[in-house]
Amino acid sequence: MKYATYDIVFQEFPDEVTLAINLTECPCHCPGCHSAYLAESTGDVLTWERLSALIAQYEGGITCVALMGGDADPSAVAAMLRRVREAYPRLHTGWYSGREALPEGFTPEAFDYVKLGPWRAECGPLKERTTNQRLYRYHADGSRTDITHRFWR
Ligand code: SF4
Repeated sequence: MKYATYDIVFQEFPDEVTLAINLTECPCHCPGCHSAYLAESTGDVLTWERLSALIAQYEGGITCVALMGGDADPSAVAAMLRRVREAYPRLHTGWYSGREALPEGFTPEAFDYVKLGPWRAECGPLKERTTNQRLYRYHADGSRTDITHRFWR
């Protein structure tokens, strides 16, 4: 996996202050993509050493670590966030995927949150009630709760 940028974000996951890593090599090619450059194979390789250094830099101020994208290699996303969970049990973990559903046989035990759904301009973003995208809160028993409504006012 490669990443282009990272940010501290406040709105992508409700009630969380999130270190969000923006991964490149996105295979989804959603029409009207807000960040078309993320389809390119650019940026630095996201090694565990790099990610853990970023977490250490912001650890006192964040509550969640998220990988944004990574649909070219969901198993690598899961493996990386599993390491986050093991090394930093205080932090929540999240994944923003452009897929309609989790990959076949994919177990989300590494995630507290998963956003599913491609960008569809006619449906709008998560904050619109018409959105096709969904944010799920995953629980320890493997079940999930749709919390997309948390974006709606
Ligand atoms: S998943 Fe996100 S980054 Fe990838 S093409 Fe769709 S909108 Fe763009």
